[in-house]
Amino acid sequence: VHAPSEKKICQNCKSEFAIGPDDFGFYAKMNVPPPTWCVNCRLQRRLAFRNERHLYKRQCNAPGHTEALISMYASESDAVVYDHDYWWSDQWSPTTYAANVDLSRPFLEQFRELLRAVPRDALVNFNAVRSDYCNYTTDNKDCYLVFGGDFNENCLYSTFNFHSKDSADLYWADKCELCYEMTDSGSCYNVSFSEFVKDCTNSAFLADCSGCSNCVGCVNLKNKSYCILNEQLSREEYEKRLRELHLEDRESRAVFAEKFRQLKLLFPHRYARIVKSVNCSGDNVVNAKNCANCFDVTGPAEDCKDVYLAASGLRDVRGTDHVGHQAELVHDSFAIFSGVRSVVCSMLISNSYNVAYSYNCRNTNNIFGCVGLQNKQYCILNRQYSKEEYEALMPVLIKYMNDVPYTDALGRTYHYGEFFPSEFSPFAYNETIAHEIFPLSRNEAELKGFRWRDEAGKHYAPTLASDKISSTIAGTDDNVLQATVECEHRGACEQNCTTAFRVTPAELALYRRLNLPVPRLCPSCRHYERLKLRNPMRAYDRQCECGGVGSVRGEFKNFGTHSHGINRCTAQMKTTYAPDRPEIVYCEDCYQAEIV
Ligand SMILES: [Zn+2]
Ligand SMILES: [Zn+2]
Ligand SMILES: [Zn+2]
Ligand SMILES: [Zn+2]
Repeated sequence: VHAPSEKKICQNCKSEFAIGPDDFGFYAKMNVPPPTWCVNCRLQRRLAFRNERHLYKRQCNAPGHTEALISMYASESDAVVYDHDYWWSDQWSPTTYAANVDLSRPFLEQFRELLRAVPRDALVNFNAVRSDYCNYTTDNKDCYLVFGGDFNENCLYSTFNFHSKDSADLYWADKCELCYEMTDSGSCYNVSFSEFVKDCTNSAFLADCSGCSNCVGCVNLKNKSYCILNEQLSREEYEKRLRELHLEDRESRAVFAEKFRQLKLLFPHRYARIVKSVNCSGDNVVNAKNCANCFDVTGPAEDCKDVYLAASGLRDVRGTDHVGHQAELVHDSFAIFSGVRSVVCSMLISNSYNVAYSYNCRNTNNIFGCVGLQNKQYCILNRQYSKEEYEALMPVLIKYMNDVPYTDALGRTYHYGEFFPSEFSPFAYNETIAHEIFPLSRNEAELKGFRWRDEAGKHYAPTLASDKISSTIAGTDDNVLQATVECEHRGACEQNCTTAFRVTPAELALYRRLNLPVPRLCPSCRHYERLKLRNPMRAYDRQCECGGVGSVRGEFKNFGTHSHGINRCTAQMKTTYAPDRPEIVYCEDCYQAEIV
């Protein structure tokens, strides 16, 4: 019997974290000791292995191959890289790299050697049709720089976009067409500069709206038409005022964007988006039960904790990201999907069970410290054992990992149950999505033991200065396709600014269709700016700010009926809006009472 909860000091950031009774239950089920790193340090450590959006030209390392290929691994990384077709062929085998367990030095050191030796697929990009510059994707057609998004057509510069068409600069979008600069939205047509929008058409600058058409600069509206800044207008008045706004012009658009930003602060914000769920905390959770501190999770999901980015069938998954499609009993892992059970400290595993400390394996079971395997069982360091040998060696190995843990360059130790040290990653910190969720300066990253990739070496010479880009698309001719356009940030932002960028023909055609000017920021800076619109993955304990007749500070007057009457709502909530933020934050009931 364990104490109700135990306080620990994170081995990495030295902050205090709690391990609760249910945590102990889970760790017992997984047969792992409690973690020595706090939840965010563990997430950061895992994310430092995932490079989605940094692609390089490099040589293929397959035997006899000399062709240049597009890869997420830069030439100077320690990865051995094969082209997609060769990697998936039977012309090579990961078992060639099998090693014996050496009980005279840390096991993770031996795993690292295997990880470096076994070749990797240049990109994770399946069924691509004229979409070579996409990663962690499948079934994209005529797409360019799409990451983690599937089944799209003619989409550009987007992440986690699905079933979308003729759109650019999306982040978390589903079934969007002719959309631009959208986050967390679905089923929209011709909508731009909007967030948390569903079933809307011919609109711009919407926040938390659904079923609206011909609306601009609106917040919390449902099934409305012809509104500007939440004011209901006649169709004629709407069209007249819309023309006067000149949203096609970058400068007038910026003025309107600021008005919209101010308007958003006058309306209640939903404390979290937890939909059709029971006993859940975090944000953007749908169809889940007993899921704590979970973010961007679309269920069914049950009994999960500290999960980021998951979908379709999860149970008993903790401290794991990029997981789903029937995953059960997963501990401190990422990219775990499609029929998996009992996975400890692993990455990129599918259709497998009883897996620990492995990378990029599928259709496997009972594997430990393996890389690149498929259709195998009872393997350690890619070497085949009999069932009896394997079962006899496992406890010895686990005990050895605890007796002789791996120690990294900063002196942090890794026992059995701790994920891989980030120094095993083939990527620099700023190449990975760790830098998107936990942005660091170069100096901060290096102090924490991460590597940094210097992008400054590129030295593009811009031929079109950012302040010379026309403020309308009408003022831009086809010559822009030949230009090297300067990014307004000029590399000073630590957002992997490429300092300059090209405009592609498909992109120019889209700007013309949407009547939008060429942007002044490079695609990478635009991506990072977009991410700033989303709340961080951290929940704060706060009280609902509904004061009964309106918001407690008086900016907003309630018009709906609230069950708590004219007294302040007493609901306590876990929200990603930090207490010092300017937004009005309502609990679910109070928020819904104000949506009509
Ligand atoms: Zn920590
Ligand atoms: Zn830039
Ligand atoms: Zn309330
Ligand atoms: Zn209320």
